[in-house]
Amino acid sequence: MVVLKSTREIEAMATAGRITAQILKEMGEIAKPGATTYDIDQFAASRCKDLRVKAAFKGQYGFPASVCISVNEEVVHGIPSKKRVLKEGDIVGCDFGVIIDGWYGDSARTFGVGKINTEAEKLLKVTEESLFKGIEMCTVENRLFDIGHSIQNYVESFGYSVVREFVGHGIGKSLHEDPQVPNYGPKGKGIPLKSGMVLAIEPMINVGGAQVRVLKDGWTAVTVDGSLSAHFEHTIAITDAGPRILTTLG
Ligand code: MG
Ligand code: MG
Repeated sequence: MVVLKSTREIEAMATAGRITAQILKEMGEIAKPGATTYDIDQFAASRCKDLRVKAAFKGQYGFPASVCISVNEEVVHGIPSKKRVLKEGDIVGCDFGVIIDGWYGDSARTFGVGKINTEAEKLLKVTEESLFKGIEMCTVENRLFDIGHSIQNYVESFGYSVVREFVGHGIGKSLHEDPQVPNYGPKGKGIPLKSGMVLAIEPMINVGGAQVRVLKDGWTAVTVDGSLSAHFEHTIAITDAGPRILTTLG
């Protein structure tokens, strides 16, 4: 069941989105050579405390940290660690959200650590652009799979692959609501998009093949072929005036 949100509820979600965006942006400034993924997670946890908000992922399905941090060939759901020291040239995906008054925000960005090579640079650019290709489709004229179709079409034109095992989702008073929002699919299919739907759209894009596997820690998903992977995500509201990005500094 897809829960539609009122204008007032969307405003409340925009507050959660704005704080999510703020802390995520600050994480990018921490993600320098020599920092550990644990440092980034601790920073986010302390900012949540300062701002009196709750980190959305801590304890969700038993996840042990505030931020999912996935480096290089790690796709999503990486667990922050004191042993994972970032080095020049790495790319680090930070997936993060907060809860305010029961409303969730959810967003992800992949940052370059120091100077990164041109292949990594291009992957980050194309993945972020693909997110916006998906967001552009979030209008009441379109259907659900138009979002993924647009993302898939764009990234495959660069020879990249769309991860299939993980998808975007509805979001609201829960982190994961209906519908699932795949980053691939047939044009013109799926449920009609409606004003009041709030969706987290989150392409996970690999330089190599689409296949992923989960490490023995039970969380970290990596590319099977070891190729680089990037992840960008925004929470957006569908309105009669078009898509509104909620996870933005505004
Ligand atoms: Mg996320
Ligand atoms: Mg999400």
